[in-house]
Amino acid sequence: TSFAHFGFDEQLMHQIRKSEYTQPTPIQCQGVPIALSGRDMIGIAKTGSGKTAAFIWPMLVHIMDQKELEAGEGPIAVIVCPTRELCQQIHAECKRFGKAYSLRSVAVYGGGSMWEQAKALQEGAEIVVCTPGRLIDHVKKKATSLQRVTYLVFDEADRMFDMGFALLFSATFRKKIERLARDILVDPIRVVQ
Ligand code: AMP
Repeated sequence: TSFAHFGFDEQLMHQIRKSEYTQPTPIQCQGVPIALSGRDMIGIAKTGSGKTAAFIWPMLVHIMDQKELEAGEGPIAVIVCPTRELCQQIHAECKRFGKAYSLRSVAVYGGGSMWEQAKALQEGAEIVVCTPGRLIDHVKKKATSLQRVTYLVFDEADRMFDMGFALLFSATFRKKIERLARDILVDPIRVVQ
């Protein structure tokens, strides 16, 4: 597979070329067409595999489609991840590739200024990258609404649930993740690297 197979438009291809990636990684070859098709997906791949771009590129395409359909408030895409560092990294990638369409991304994580994050959310962003607890805080305070969200990613889901629920579930915890994924996702495709 080459980048041309994904059918991305010139703006996005321009950003990808600027990154000097010569060809898609295996998780991108497999995952991008599935995500572009609108199917739910469980992706299992290591850090360094290029998994972040594998969910960001189809996300950008989806947002541009949705934006034409309906104007409104609140993010169209939400990426939930376990740590502040990961939040910042993903947010940087969203900004880098989101430039293709002048899309706005906001990073919302525990330890950062609640007020500054709320202000950024209220100014409007199509993409929110967050840690779970802090997103819930902002929703409770009505700093943002999630009613327009149609693209949802749990990055490093296993680590996230590990941190939150380890004490409760310890031994049965993998089973719980699998069950949770099965409850939320509609007929997901599994991609394993
Ligand atoms: P990740 O697995 O998402 O943490 O990505 C690991 C690194 O691979 C990041 O520094 C990306 O910028 C880089 N990367 C992502 N996609 C590609 C690609 N197709 N070719 C080369 N490097 C890539």
